[in-house]
Amino acid sequence: MTRHISIIGGGFHGICCAYLLAKKGYKVSLIDTGKTIGGVMASLEHGDYIYDLGCHLFDNSYKKLSDLLKELLSDKFVPHKTVYASIVNGIKSENTEAPNLTNLGPARSATILYELIERILSKADAPITSLADLVEANFGSSAAKALNEIYHKKTRGSFDALSSTIFNTILPSRLYFLEDDMARFLKKHPELDEKIAVESMKSPLDFYGDRVDLSKNDYRQFYPAARGMRGFCEQAEKKLEEFGVKIYKSTFCQEIKHSDKGCHLSLRDKGNQKTWQLDSDMTFWAGDVSKLAQILDYSDDLTAYNHPVAFAVFYFNLPEDQIGKHSYIHNFDKDDLISRASAPSKYGAAVAPDGMGYICAELTTHVGSDVWENTEQKTAAVWQELIDMEYVKSTTKMPEPFILKTPAGYMLKKKGYKKALNKFKLFAKEYPNITFPENGAFSRAGIFSDVENIINALEN
Ligand SMILES: Cc1cc2nc3c(=O)[nH]c(=O)nc-3n(C[C@H](O)[C@H](O)[C@H](O)COP(=O)(O)OP(=O)(O)OC[C@H]3O[C@@H](n4cnc5c(N)ncnc54)[C@H](O)[C@@H]3O)c2cc1C
Repeated sequence: MTRHISIIGGGFHGICCAYLLAKKGYKVSLIDTGKTIGGVMASLEHGDYIYDLGCHLFDNSYKKLSDLLKELLSDKFVPHKTVYASIVNGIKSENTEAPNLTNLGPARSATILYELIERILSKADAPITSLADLVEANFGSSAAKALNEIYHKKTRGSFDALSSTIFNTILPSRLYFLEDDMARFLKKHPELDEKIAVESMKSPLDFYGDRVDLSKNDYRQFYPAARGMRGFCEQAEKKLEEFGVKIYKSTFCQEIKHSDKGCHLSLRDKGNQKTWQLDSDMTFWAGDVSKLAQILDYSDDLTAYNHPVAFAVFYFNLPEDQIGKHSYIHNFDKDDLISRASAPSKYGAAVAPDGMGYICAELTTHVGSDVWENTEQKTAAVWQELIDMEYVKSTTKMPEPFILKTPAGYMLKKKGYKKALNKFKLFAKEYPNITFPENGAFSRAGIFSDVENIINALEN
């Protein structure tokens, strides 16, 4: 008999899982509390503009994931040759999105290299209780100190107080702290190769390694052909329905009862507030795990480990030819407001009226901060930073921005989360018909791998 899987949460986790399961012939119900599916990927429709919620692009670095995304898009995508930069110590470094630590001076780079080699040789296994421990174990103490300062703008918390589980969410796996020639020389050593970054865009092949056939796919990233990331969500919805997935939008899952036979869901329609029930053989929880813990009446409050990073996002509509060349720029300088600026109208067509485009400036902050309380008053300063970044010319007239604020632009985890999550995983074994992404991946590549693991476990 066909097994019925209910999926709670229609973000990328839920979409991915629903599609792969439906393709394998499962009966699938996808439930989301939002008006559209897509979660953080669903852009905002504002007049004639489609505003992405921050900077989103599809990476073309894992063939299986690229194939899946292109299928979900019914091949309606445009390749994008990314142009990016990052700013550290007021210096803009082209061709890298990671912070360029060479901007901190050669003495700092020399110490980092010495400590990195020491780390590799010592092979000591120090206990990891926080993000600070993990970063130090990976890169040594000088690099950890520098990164802690540099990333404070994005984390809004100290590495000491944050969970090691967010390493991949926030930090690059390799450090960019040496000039290219020296870096390439050292990278001949396999263990140093794992830790040292080079400017990837000078030669995309350096970035891709052997994961993608670049002779056929000569682009680093791609993007929906129309309507931005919202276009992806809309195409994905169509595709899911084509494969028989039943989608329930504006529907909140408030309770899951579990038995040997399956799961009994209590769902609330957000339109008429009526509650209704749905039975399935198995439930995949594709939302925040701490909320699942609450629904299952778990004794510990996992939400206490949440560390939300608030966002204030400024959207400026401009003629396309007045927007600078970069796809996006990361700014790590703590005295500047903008954390990342992007120009999604450069990626694909049809996110703005003809000849027009928009710049999106993301400010990371916390609720109650000066930026949070007085956001509109920061407009002129934000615009000046866009001029300094060369995203716009000083002669360009500043348009009135549209400003969006969210108290949790992304959710990091506090120190202690890993231990608490492992305890919850033991508890959750009593509910074998409820499954959830145990690794809590952030990037789409990580999410895809989470989902593949879940489906493999289901099949075996
Ligand atoms: C600004 C920003 C930019 C990013 N850019 C990139 C990028 O360029 N590349 C990349 O790889 N990754 C990027 N990411 C990361 C990646 O896009 C996200 O981590 C991913 O989309 C999250 O998907 P998700 O399904 O885990 O969560 P979400 O998108 O948060 O989806 C969860 C869904 O569950 C629903 N839900 C929750 N509780 C319930 C309930 N009780 N009942 C019903 N529904 C419920 C919510 O409505 C939501 O739609 C970015 C993230 C952000 C925030």
